[in-house]
Order: sequence, then structure tokens, then C-alpha cells
Amino acid sequence: MRALASCLLACFLVVAACDRGAEPEAPKPERAKLLVIGLDGLDPGLVSKWVGSGALPHLGRLVARGTMTTIDCVVGTSSPVVWTTVATGLVPDEHGVTGFTIDGDPVNASHRKRPALWNILAEQKLRVATVGWMVSWPAEPDAGIVVSDRAWWGDFDDKVAPDGIVEPRRHRPRLDPVRQVVPRFSSYPYDPNWKFLREDDPRYAINYLLEKRLLGIFRRDSMYASMAREIAETQDLDVLAVYFQGPDYVGHGFWKWFEPEPFRQAGVDVPQADVDRLGTIIPAYYSYVDSLVGMLVSRVDEDALIVVLSDHGFRAWPEARNARDLSSKARFLSGNHREKATLILSGPQVRRGASVERRITHLDVLPTLLFALDAPRARDNSGQPLVELFTEDFVAKRPDRSVASHAPEAVGESAQTKSDTKRRTSTSRSSRSCARSDTFVRHASCGCSSSSSCSRERCSGARRSRT
Ligand SMILES: [Zn+2]
Repeated sequence: MRALASCLLACFLVVAACDRGAEPEAPKPERAKLLVIGLDGLDPGLVSKWVGSGALPHLGRLVARGTMTTIDCVVGTSSPVVWTTVATGLVPDEHGVTGFTIDGDPVNASHRKRPALWNILAEQKLRVATVGWMVSWPAEPDAGIVVSDRAWWGDFDDKVAPDGIVEPRRHRPRLDPVRQVVPRFSSYPYDPNWKFLREDDPRYAINYLLEKRLLGIFRRDSMYASMAREIAETQDLDVLAVYFQGPDYVGHGFWKWFEPEPFRQAGVDVPQADVDRLGTIIPAYYSYVDSLVGMLVSRVDEDALIVVLSDHGFRAWPEARNARDLSSKARFLSGNHREKATLILSGPQVRRGASVERRITHLDVLPTLLFALDAPRARDNSGQPLVELFTEDFVAKRPDRSVASHAPEAVGESAQTKSDTKRRTSTSRSSRSCARSDTFVRHASCGCSSSSSCSRERCSGARRSRT
């Protein structure tokens, strides 16, 4: 009897110990129902070719579960302009972002005159996270989670990002370690001491491009991928929008070795040994971006609508080397934009292989996203939702809903909201004006190292030199 009692006591103690050790399972975050991936410069011709050959398996799966088509670049191919048109559904004269610089300043979100995707969705009470989108700095409050396009300028280890970099501030950029990056893309023997070479030495240009056009952009894209992954895994979301710039950077930098014929026809010496070692970079970067697409798709709802798009495509640019209006280093570039962009829609709500009769433009993107979310679109958006690409069931559940405009004044903005907006704008401007001395502002805004060495003149001068 005593033996049985001690056995029962031992069992009780074991069970009690197990109970104490069991952690309550954290609730899983709600996964996004819409994933938008912006891939700067992703050329539709290359995507089509490499999806066909199986070299881009994740994009290939998306196309197999939906459709791929091309966008006509009716607002030009200047990236800040096009990505802002995508986000606002408006032409440049209406949204205010007309180029890389405005009045001598690098363009930023305070130049945008109209609400963007993240403002519109937050207004609709949808939970949105925007990561790295072009012209999203300063990060706007009350627009969901925004990791701005200047987050990558800083080293934020062990610190919380300052105002304007990320909203809410608790989300902080962390850099993935960048090791062995060049061998992943190219067998060229990268020389980190290239700056000591003569500028007319061919190795100077190649190493410059490897550092500025491959290492730098890989660092940027991997950081935003890391943040997007963390946000997707930990936050309740309806919409996740992520932007990567790498295809554009490597397209500009390495086209000559990827497609040497137009350059050779123009009399440029393109040694075959360099083609063998550097011609791999563009396909390998597309493959890297494909892996990022797969990573993001696996972190949203399995029935989510996935939209992948670019702002323009790419072409050979042999004229660059002789262009007098380009700086000497810009003449190292050999790829340039072309006016066709990529569009992939995928998910159970998309008709497989569907197409539309009319031409598709970047103005159609926002109305399409709002249609898919069953959110009202604006009648002052000249684009149209691409309803032809969706299944009949999906369309039937979405009656045509519209408002006059997404601009706050058009929907009866209150005086209080207006004064809040004004205050936010002035806060953004003060962070740009280099009034603060912390590390983040030093990195993000002007390069000043302390408040004593910082003045508006120096700040704006430093910002000009970044252009
Ligand atoms: Zn570009």
C-alpha cells in the first residue's frame, strides 16, 4: 500500500513538473491576405524566359496559380515617380513626386501631395505593413507599420530607430551579415582595394560596380527582407507591401557582360573572360529575388492574393560610355530602363492565364488592389481595376464601391485631423533639417556627427551631395 502511495505521489510530482514546464503557446499572428512585392527594374522578358526554364521556381509557382502580363510605363520609367503612381493611383502632376530630386532635395514622402496605399488602407482600418517602399521616408505615423526607404542608411544595432525611419519606432532594422556575397553571384576576383587602381584600369570599373552595384544593394535588400520576415511572422496583418531595389541596380551595373553583343557591335571591347565571370550576376540576382518572393509568400495566408510588379524593364545601353552629360562613374553603367514592366497576380481568386484586352498601366494597380480588398476606390483615379483577371465568384462578391477621392479634404477631413497632419509634416521637416545629433539622424539625414557641428546649411549641403 505504501509502495502504491509513493508511486502515485511520484507520478503526481512528474505531472506537476511537466505542467509547470509547459509554456502557454503564443497565439499565431493573423497572416496577410494581400501581399504586394515591388521589384525595381524586374524585366518582364527575363522573368518570362526564366520562369519558362524553371530558373525562378517561386515566381513560376505564382504564375502557375495565376497570370503574368506586362505593364505599359505611361508615366515614364523614373522609379520614384512610378512607385508613387502605384501607391497613389495618380499621375505625377497630381501626386507631386516628379523625379529623384525636387527643388534640389532628394525626393521624400513630404513631397507627396496625396495619400498613398498605406494611408488609404489605414484609413479603412486595414492592418498594413509597408517595408522599404520607394519615397516612404519620413515614415508616416498612423499608416500601419512603415519601414521607410531610408532605414538602410543607418546601423541600428542595439538601438531603436528614431522618428521618421520606422513607425512604430519599436521595429528596428537589423542587418543580415554580408559575407561571401560576391562569390554567390560571380567568380570575378573582387579586390576591396580597387580605389588604389587607376580609373582607366578596367579592373577599377568592375570592382567599383561590384562594390556599389552588387554588395551595397544585396545588403539593402537582405535587410528589408529580414525586417519583412520578422513583421510577417509577428504582426497581425491584412496587407504586406515590400519593395526590393536589387534587379534595377544589377541591371544598370552588369548588363554589358550579360548581353555583350550590342556592345561589341558598338565597338566596345568586352573580353569573353569577363563575360564568363560577370555575366552570371543578373541571372543570379533574379534567382536571389525569387527566393525572397518564396520566403514572403510562405509567410502570408495560403489563400492570399499575391501581386508582384516592377516599375520598368531593362535593355542594353551601349550609349552610356560616350554620354557627355554623365559623370565618369555613371559611364560605367551599361543597362537602362525600358518602358515595359512586369505584373504577376496569383492566388485562388485569380483566373489562371487570364489576360485583358486593353493595355495595363501603373495607374491600374491601386484600383485593382482596392477592388481585391473590397475597399472603395477613388473616382479621381484614372486607372481601372483589372477585374478581368479575377474569378467570377470573386468579382460577384465585390460590388463597385467608390468615393470621389482618397484625398483627406475630399472625404470631409476634420479641422483636428488637418492640424495633426500639419504638425506631422513640420515634425518630418525638423527631422530632415538635422536639428538632432543622434547617430540615426547622422546616418539618415546629413552625415553630421554632433549637434555642435550641425547646421542647416551643412545639412542641406550634405543631402545635396548624396543626390
Ligand atoms: Zn534604375
